[in-house]
Amino acid sequence: MKPRLLTPGPTPVPEETLLELARPVFFHRSAEFRAILAEVVEDLKYVFQTKNTVVVLTASGTGGMEAAVANCCPPGSKAIGLVSGRWGERWKNICKAFGVEFINVAVPYGQSVAPGLLEKALADHPDAIAVFATLSETSTGARNDVAAFGRIVARTPALMIVDSISGLGVMECRTDDWHIDVNVTGSQKALMLPPGLAYVAVSDKAWAQIEKNGAARNFYFDLRKYRDKLAENDTPFTPAHTLIKAQRASLKRLRAEGIEHVWARHARMASAARAGAKAMGLELFAEQPADGLTVIKVPVGIDGNAVLAAMEKKFGVKLANGQDSLKGKIWRLAHMGYIDQFDVLAALSALELVLLEHGFPLEPGAGVAAAQRVLAGGAHA
Ligand SMILES: *Cc1c(COP(=O)(O)O)cnc(C)c1O
Repeated sequence: MKPRLLTPGPTPVPEETLLELARPVFFHRSAEFRAILAEVVEDLKYVFQTKNTVVVLTASGTGGMEAAVANCCPPGSKAIGLVSGRWGERWKNICKAFGVEFINVAVPYGQSVAPGLLEKALADHPDAIAVFATLSETSTGARNDVAAFGRIVARTPALMIVDSISGLGVMECRTDDWHIDVNVTGSQKALMLPPGLAYVAVSDKAWAQIEKNGAARNFYFDLRKYRDKLAENDTPFTPAHTLIKAQRASLKRLRAEGIEHVWARHARMASAARAGAKAMGLELFAEQPADGLTVIKVPVGIDGNAVLAAMEKKFGVKLANGQDSLKGKIWRLAHMGYIDQFDVLAALSALELVLLEHGFPLEPGAGVAAAQRVLAGGAHA
């Protein structure tokens, strides 16, 4: 059986990147590594669409989020958090751990945060030092209008801090044009690498705040150390340099395709997945869906956990369950990074077969056909 991984992190890794990971370990304080780091940072800037400093941290995505909070927000400061799911809640929990007051601007799961809510929160809390947002809320499949958030926050002294971990390299995200001061992403979603690296793009406005905050609140994630070493294409601690070298291979794919084409490809796959789900008589969970994953409501009378287990066991197709309170209630089908349109068709097909077995009424091929029509250039869903 051929395993197919369609989870919203980690995601499959292209062969040339896997082969890099099979190469011998080399020394990290070397001209060879400095050249690689310089190249990777340049390519990351392209993916981030930024001229800002991009630091590379050896951590999962949350490490980058923690670095953002600890460096930008002094103890006792206040921040506004735009929360549309579990990942927005992670900003809240990190702020709590670092003694930052979190003004919780939350919407029900499945919804996106209306920019008007941010305007109001900023008017009520003009002393907020930062605004935290999530581009693609991977727990619900909702997209947030970060461009609109950025325009609003840019008029204030506050920093716009974004978790773009399942959105960057999938959907339009223009760090500089959208006034994102701190943009955090991870290696294991659309950037086609195993977990282990976090990337943080930091603007001049954010650096000024970080300097103003004085002494660092953490040792390993002190962003200034990374910035200063980066001037010599170096890192303050032993980096996961074999991963960084492998990242170079995956980033070359994105560069070769061109970022606008990358966004368009994901939009098309997402549209196909949504059309397929709807044609099977299923409902989408997110009102304004992101392009990196499609989140489907488990229909009434169907055991959502059993369907996922059967898809994996019988067909090798791995989708993600809902998390926490959404477990068994939603299915999350990822289409980002190295997951391609034919993986999506395979997943829709496997879902149809398993749903048929579970007695769910549907016409075999209905979902696949609808998705194919979108891929063939038909109406988008
Ligand atoms: C995957 C993901 C994270 C990262 O979590 P880690 O497990 O720490 O890598 C954070 N935010 C979003 C939106 C994600 O999709």
